[in-house]
Amino acid sequence: MNIPKLTIRQPVQLVSEGLAPAAALPELEKVAARYAVALTPDVVALIDRSDPNDPIALQYVPSAKELDSEPVDRADPIGDAARSPVEGIVHRYPDRVLFKLVHVCAVYCRFCFRREMVGPGKENALTADVYARALDYIHEHTEIWEVILTGGDPLMLSPRRMAEVMRDLAAIPHVKIIRIHTRVPVVDPSRISEDMVEAFRVKGATTWIAVHANHARELTEEARAACARLIDAGIPMVSQSVLLRGVNDNPAALEALMRAFVECRIKPYYLHQGDLAPGTEHLRTTIAEGQQLMRAIRGRLSGLCQPEYVLDIPGGFGKSPIGPGYLSQADDRHADLRYRVVDYCGDVHLYPPEP
Ligand SMILES: *Cc1c(COP(=O)(O)O)cnc(C)c1O
Ligand code: SF4
Repeated sequence: MNIPKLTIRQPVQLVSEGLAPAAALPELEKVAARYAVALTPDVVALIDRSDPNDPIALQYVPSAKELDSEPVDRADPIGDAARSPVEGIVHRYPDRVLFKLVHVCAVYCRFCFRREMVGPGKENALTADVYARALDYIHEHTEIWEVILTGGDPLMLSPRRMAEVMRDLAAIPHVKIIRIHTRVPVVDPSRISEDMVEAFRVKGATTWIAVHANHARELTEEARAACARLIDAGIPMVSQSVLLRGVNDNPAALEALMRAFVECRIKPYYLHQGDLAPGTEHLRTTIAEGQQLMRAIRGRLSGLCQPEYVLDIPGGFGKSPIGPGYLSQADDRHADLRYRVVDYCGDVHLYPPEP
């Protein structure tokens, strides 16, 4: 199979590349009219066309199921709009803000929680005015310790523009941490050039990178090398994954993914419950299934491999850990508080133990 050299953006290309059946074309055109489509050559090369349930294809190849809408779906599933004091900024927690620099991504994930906001049809980078006003907001709010660059994917900026943004932010005295949320090191590793790495090394702030990947196969040799370039330059990395039906909702897949991150010196950070974005119901698991998976990897995998399972509460209330509980209050009549604690095998113990 020839691997295309350019990003696939049209359903007709999906058909000609053997990634979708010709009969699906009319429906896929409808999906593409509503939600952006993009598969980089690196991603296309990973897809096993002989597997109708390929976990890479499920993440990026559009499906007619995306036209289904559920009553619980929301266009703004995590309530960004409710917490946006100026365009480009989301300020939900006191010590940190999201700064949305671009509305485009290298790939478009079929489960994206911002799918109504991202895509090449949306306005691209912030205008100079909007950018200046967002910077002013950060300047004026001295409680902002951390700025999280997100989007879209901020690594769609050129290294030169990225360097300017990094310098502007690092020059603000109270901004100590600049965190970049991106999928680029995995889906388009060649963008992690020497200039891009250099852009992240700024005086006055510490840069962290949170990389998004959902399946161990996404961490190719090239992706691992891109992450190593960043980490070797002194930039710590953490991971973010979304729990996805058919992609990583079994203990073996989750284990392989978390081990791959740690082998790359990337600390697993969050495992997200799928957000209520429209047309993504077929890719979501239940929270009960997510908790069962978290129980399955607890104890069996190194503590380094444990992400926190979180839910972004619809309406703009932030993220909460929703992993299984291991501690409960024991029902005893003693005045002293006693707990029941569950070990990794599922056995229950009293704490403090019976004398
Ligand atoms: C997710 C999110 C953050 C980052 O949260 P952490 O728990 O620090 O990773 C910050 N602001 C907003 C608005 C968010 O949605
Ligand atoms: S890279 Fe992130 S913002 Fe872009 S489509 Fe995927 S999940 Fe959405």
